[in-house]
Amino acid sequence: MNFQNTREFAQQLDAQDELFKYRNEFLFPSINGKNVIYFTGNSLGLQPKRTQAYVDEVMNDWAKLAVEGHFYADKPWWDYHERFAVPLSGIVGAKPSEITVMNTLTVNLHLMMVSFYQPTPKKYKIICEEKAFPSDQYMFQSQVKFHGYDPKDAIVEIKRREGEHNIRHEDIIAKIEEVGEELALVLIGGVNYYTGQVFDIKAITEAGHKTGAYVGWDLAHAAGNIELELHDWNVDFACWCSYKYMNSGPGNASGCFVHEKHHNDKELPRFAGWWGHNKERRFKMEPDFDPVHGADGWQISNLPILSLAPYLASVEMFAEVGMKKLIQKRNLLTAYLEFILHEIDREIDGTEFEIITPQNQEERACQLSVYLHGQGRSLFEYLMKNGVITDWREPNVIRLAPAPFYCSFEDMYEFGQILKAGISKP
Ligand SMILES: *Cc1c(COP(=O)(O)O)cnc(C)c1O
Repeated sequence: MNFQNTREFAQQLDAQDELFKYRNEFLFPSINGKNVIYFTGNSLGLQPKRTQAYVDEVMNDWAKLAVEGHFYADKPWWDYHERFAVPLSGIVGAKPSEITVMNTLTVNLHLMMVSFYQPTPKKYKIICEEKAFPSDQYMFQSQVKFHGYDPKDAIVEIKRREGEHNIRHEDIIAKIEEVGEELALVLIGGVNYYTGQVFDIKAITEAGHKTGAYVGWDLAHAAGNIELELHDWNVDFACWCSYKYMNSGPGNASGCFVHEKHHNDKELPRFAGWWGHNKERRFKMEPDFDPVHGADGWQISNLPILSLAPYLASVEMFAEVGMKKLIQKRNLLTAYLEFILHEIDREIDGTEFEIITPQNQEERACQLSVYLHGQGRSLFEYLMKNGVITDWREPNVIRLAPAPFYCSFEDMYEFGQILKAGISKP
């Protein structure tokens, strides 16, 4: 498509956008009396208007039924989490039995590592990406030390080549082959949080398995953003948070995938609690743990229903629209934003900024990360004052994620105009 940097053109794209109506389903903060242009759906998604009713329902059930709500609420609390299996399995490409929701992301990754990281002196290394999200780095270090190994030896990072912003796929595969027999676990972010680079989950999982390692994924920036086929790709486990692209609210519950092939494996260690115990016999308070079949068997505690309520609202909204349409719009919207950025840069002098996210559609999703050359943090602050919420990462990067659920093409045009005025300032 031949894009144009005009308001009329952007409005035309909005008029043709089947998802445009969903914009009105979200609550936008306002600055100077106007709705903001929101680019941080990769950090905390906006609140869907329908969420309030889901939370109110739990509050009302609690008021009216108290403890009886566990069994007699319209959506009983004791198996409330089971409502997620079908809609979430569609979003991440899984069988419903492979899905559970519980805890928060880093906690779930730790729990998955209890099952899928069992180092031996010959097979103890973990492969991750260079500059992985800090929480993941701390997790790797603490897990490795917990098992009595040295993080400097056991954690192998896949590096970017000198002068390049993204990690090359062939370098990931080569590193996996190089570590070979010593490799116990590959655990990478499906979409890199800093650059927005999307990794080839299928091929990397296959390469890891060839060495006899387990392969898991941190899908914080991938769930609700990219196409996933976790079951078919033979991924061992994956976890994601729900508050980024999935709009479930601050710090909210995480989703977790455990491949069917592991469900019957009694040898896999796992940390247990009563919510992972045989559902029919849970309240008999028996001493021996008998895990629920499927991913729910990794549950530990009874669930925070007040956090699951907003997550359920969001998951049902995703199921209503489907990832296919969201991805179609995402691609067009991101391409339009990329075009606007290049246009504005050209109109100024062509050297102010550089998009470090891969250009290739296969290797990127919603986010564009922009490296600012001549500009500093003041530009980020200027954008904020003028109603554009972006996110700043050291040393000099702003991340822009035009979430397809609620960002419009006109937002992209408008952003370009605000950006140009900000940069032109002496
Ligand atoms: C956002 C994010 C996290 C956050 O972890 P929490 O446990 O939810 O605080 C972890 N890993 C990655 C890759 C992230 O992007």
